[in-house]
Amino acid sequence: MVRAVFPGTFDPVHFGHIDIAERASKIFDELIIAVYDKPLKNLLFSPEERLSQVRLAFQGQEKIHVTGYSGLTVEFCRKIEAKVVVRGLRVFSDFEHEFRMAHANFHLAPEVEVIALITSDQYTFLSSTTVKEIALLGGNVSSMVPNFVAEAFTKKFLELGATQQVVQITSLRD
Ligand code: ADP
Repeated sequence: MVRAVFPGTFDPVHFGHIDIAERASKIFDELIIAVYDKPLKNLLFSPEERLSQVRLAFQGQEKIHVTGYSGLTVEFCRKIEAKVVVRGLRVFSDFEHEFRMAHANFHLAPEVEVIALITSDQYTFLSSTTVKEIALLGGNVSSMVPNFVAEAFTKKFLELGATQQVVQITSLRD
């Protein structure tokens, strides 16, 4: 039985993530979507909010399970006896980041393989930051995220108030 982990921040989950997860779930016996609690990024949604959004996105999918985690991804993999880490690749800048991370992980846990799936062409442009920016500016994100995420944006922006700086870009990649 091959158990794989798809780790990420999912702030918020979007159709690009969902596509990668569904494709990965056809390759492996079990796919654990692991929602990282405190990445070094500016987050819009809390760990609990991100986790419940990801749970909703994959509910009813037999081979997919969702959980939160903290600490090193490879330690989490060891703990749940997962042999594979799944990642998604969009553009060349993703490659460089994923390449470095895969090598670092290999040094820490050589028994865990990293497998990267190439994005489907309709999701090449899609990132959580892009979706947040569009939503913040009042754009229609219904082709990018499930309805409950679009609704969560509305609620969150109301909570935070119009003057809050809620989407800070810290790097070209998210
Ligand atoms: P992280 O902070 O771990 O990069 P993200 O939620 O930003 O978390 O992304 C999780 C994974 O999903 C990463 O491997 C990322 O490259 C991938 N990903 C994000 N957007 C897309 C997309 N549109 N198509 C394919 N993979 C994607």
